[in-house]
Amino acid sequence: MSLSSTPRTRLHRLRERAGTDRAQLHAILDAGLICHLGVIVDGSPMVVPTLYGRSGDTMYLHGSTGSRSLHAGGEVCVTVTHLDGLVLARSVFHHSANYRSAMIYGVPRLVEDPDEHLAALRDLTEHLVPGQWDATRRPNRKELAATTVLALSLDESSVKVRQGPPSDEEEDYALPTWAGVLPLAVSWGEPVPDPRLAPGLEVPEHIARRL
Ligand SMILES: Cc1cc2nc3c(=O)[nH]c(=O)nc-3n(C[C@H](O)[C@H](O)[C@H](O)COP(=O)(O)OP(=O)(O)OC[C@H]3O[C@@H](n4cnc5c(N)ncnc54)[C@H](O)[C@@H]3O)c2cc1C
Repeated sequence: MSLSSTPRTRLHRLRERAGTDRAQLHAILDAGLICHLGVIVDGSPMVVPTLYGRSGDTMYLHGSTGSRSLHAGGEVCVTVTHLDGLVLARSVFHHSANYRSAMIYGVPRLVEDPDEHLAALRDLTEHLVPGQWDATRRPNRKELAATTVLALSLDESSVKVRQGPPSDEEEDYALPTWAGVLPLAVSWGEPVPDPRLAPGLEVPEHIARRL
């Protein structure tokens, strides 16, 4: 399905970097762990890094019922960014980054339905480590009451991607300056057991699979 742009999600600069496929948006969200939630709180912009989950074309955000960013009301702008490498050019001007990023605009909906609330928390948990929901104790009534969940439609979203080598001025290609891409990859480390882990517990398969 295509990712149709609205006046505010249409890229103004370097339009050829726009993603046009909704599957690209989903892939960027699914590959990420945190997003940045931009809200207006008491008249000032506030950008909060936070975890998220996705179900179809809905993004779920959660946090404390005391969280100001989750209760700001009104429109939000959420981004998810993957930095894939630094693009080192022959000139300072043409230095850049290789990346995949997504931006979502909308007015989030407070999730009040208990079934959707629980399902959203499952989506969030499963987004981080698939299999973790079934491996852990479910939230109890008190914990659920302390947790706000927002649902944000992915309807108004954009994708921007840059990949590939630097793009230098033609006359600079002969300069004796190293140019190219310094790739960046994020990877998991070895799991570190909690010092208070109950005895005899190995790292479960679903966590080992995540490495
Ligand atoms: C890791 C990283 C590093 C970057 N570094 C720089 C930098 O140093 N300097 C710089 O100028 N730009 C940088 N960019 C690109 C930057 O994110 C903007 O795309 C660019 O600056 C254009 O901004 P603008 O305000 O003109 O947006 P416009 O093109 O006016 O934005 C219009 C609409 O396009 C969409 N859009 C714009 N940017 C993005 C995006 N990144 N991802 C998804 N949708 C988008 C949004 O829906 C937005 O409302 C970087 C991007 C990433 C991911």
